[in-house]
Amino acid sequence: MTDHYDPTDSTDTRNHIRTDGGRDVVELPDQVELPRLLDFYELQTEETTEIAEFYDNLREGQLTTTECQDCGELHFPPRIVCPECQSDDLAYVDLPHEGELFAFSTVRAGAPMGMEDDVPFVIGIVDLGEITLSAHLDDAEYDDLSIGDPVELKIVEIDGPVDHERVFYRFEPKET
Ligand SMILES: [Zn+2]
Repeated sequence: MTDHYDPTDSTDTRNHIRTDGGRDVVELPDQVELPRLLDFYELQTEETTEIAEFYDNLREGQLTTTECQDCGELHFPPRIVCPECQSDDLAYVDLPHEGELFAFSTVRAGAPMGMEDDVPFVIGIVDLGEITLSAHLDDAEYDDLSIGDPVELKIVEIDGPVDHERVFYRFEPKET
């Protein structure tokens, strides 16, 4: 076998598909790198997501979401079309940065890429009043938590193999 695929060499069958009749050749790499798609965080630029404004706001320290300007429905996560009335007249509104722990659990296995070293860690459902969301809870031990505990927003930067700075929201127990 040669190091390079030679379409004229019928003995070379490494990871290649070739059909006769003028069709395209499909080639698969010998070695597949871990795709970025396995990372938990989506791309955050205008070119890659229609909710880039959510991430821009978060980068500036503000948790926001979309509110429908036709029916008033508040969504989370942010939408580009209202799931209630199908309007696309949505506006970003601020969400509170403090809420209460509605429920929580510990992740001990199966953590998403980039969170493996954090295991075990706590995730919680946070009640912000008008909406609830699930989030990674930092600086929290399961045994120290109770339903109803006050928690506050924490914004983290994501260091990953993409060419722009990414951020995400977490929560942590509120300092009392
Ligand atoms: Zn609506």
